[in-house]
Amino acid sequence: MHFSGLRVIKEALTGHKGWKPLWRDPEPKPAYDFVIVGGGGHGLATAFYLAKTFGQAKVAVLEKGWLGSGNIGRNTTIIRSNYLLPGNEPFYEFSMKLWETLEQETNFNSMVSQRGIINLYHSDAQRDAYRRRGNAMLLAGADAQLLGPEDLRARLPYLNFDNARFPIKGGLLQARAGTARHDGVAWGYARGADMRGVDIIQNCEVTGIRIEGGAVKGVETTRGYIGAGKVGVAVAGSSSRVMQMAGMRLPIESHVLQAFVSEGLKPLIDTVITFGAGHFYISQSDKGGLVFGGDIDGYNSYAQRGNLPVVEDVAEGGMALMPMIGRARLLRSWGGIMDMSMDGSPIIDATPVDGLYLNAGWCYGGFKATPASGYAFAHLLATGRSHETATAYRLDRFARGHLIDEKGAGAQPNLH
Ligand SMILES: Cc1cc2nc3c(=O)[nH]c(=O)nc-3n(C[C@H](O)[C@H](O)[C@H](O)COP(=O)(O)OP(=O)(O)OC[C@H]3O[C@@H](n4cnc5c(N)ncnc54)[C@H](O)[C@@H]3O)c2cc1C
Repeated sequence: MHFSGLRVIKEALTGHKGWKPLWRDPEPKPAYDFVIVGGGGHGLATAFYLAKTFGQAKVAVLEKGWLGSGNIGRNTTIIRSNYLLPGNEPFYEFSMKLWETLEQETNFNSMVSQRGIINLYHSDAQRDAYRRRGNAMLLAGADAQLLGPEDLRARLPYLNFDNARFPIKGGLLQARAGTARHDGVAWGYARGADMRGVDIIQNCEVTGIRIEGGAVKGVETTRGYIGAGKVGVAVAGSSSRVMQMAGMRLPIESHVLQAFVSEGLKPLIDTVITFGAGHFYISQSDKGGLVFGGDIDGYNSYAQRGNLPVVEDVAEGGMALMPMIGRARLLRSWGGIMDMSMDGSPIIDATPVDGLYLNAGWCYGGFKATPASGYAFAHLLATGRSHETATAYRLDRFARGHLIDEKGAGAQPNLH
């Protein structure tokens, strides 16, 4: 079924009886050419591009829960390509370009909203660092603009500019950045993949990876054994647990990241803002809720719930940035499990097991990467070669010492 304005009018006039489920609910087949483990954004995007761009017909996505139950449905929906390092910036800019045509490509309203992002700076040194970052972005074909205090006061008059401790001196704007409706992204990719014959199998947990003679043969699941020519693992916060089934120990720790949404308010924040003197970021959803978050919790965990010290820390960040937020009531908070890599950058690579591939290490920045990650992983699975924008995302870079240390914090996941 093709979605269009005419279709909406026709359904409105005929009692909305023609809408169909967005994807089928198929039984697993005995074997596929490609099995993708994990029905989050990255797994679904991989299946979509495998089918659409690389013409693969026998593809399955295995999801242990319901589609979108992981981080793809839990994030704060920010998309951007404001990275500094050569290993990262071309990849995230590729993703940004894919976001710009995503809705046409999937024929689904994922509410991509290029409302811009402003990273605030609070000192001369931070301004210089942002200027350098902006120049790196421009060199990679992205957009960037350094804003001074007067520009900012006109755009965001409610910020606490003259706070004695954290005065706001300006910001780095990426106007093409913004937000997208996170579960709408999962649904769009799922529907697009299903329409091209991909089997999306929910409530199907992978419990083992069958390897013979150093090559992958298939996966054990709660719905029986499924044979596979190639297996691509894209399970985000569960990466270490799933790869352990293949006898591998990853350079990844799992931590919880929490997010928060306030009661619905009238339109107030028309962009995404990040605080430069602490870890706090905020935007306003189309329903009116202020959506915000901060640091990961300080200890490793596979629980999808967070702790109170981080709630306090995030609230402090919000109050320092825009004290009026103290008058808004908090509606909900939740947590998701982050696959924190040692240098804060991702992994899209083959593994030492023939036919077994890994997509992981997204930390808390993987939503914006969804289109490029899916495309690059599909490219790797279909051709055996890394996509040109993802060549640095090697699994062995930690052993070789070739870290992509975007934050300059070293090999300490809790500092990224
Ligand atoms: C609170 C929060 C805020 C965030 N904010 C942002 C943001 O603003 N911008 C941004 O870019 N990123 C953000 N992120 C990060 C982003 O959401 C993740 O990096 C990204 O969604 C991870 O990829 P995914 O969508 O494939 O993961 P997931 O949706 O977690 O998909 C992995 C799937 O694998 C499944 N799975 C696990 N084990 C198995 C198994 N054994 N068998 C079968 N299936 C299995 C899980 O059930 C899950 O559905 C945020 C994350 C959180 C939690």
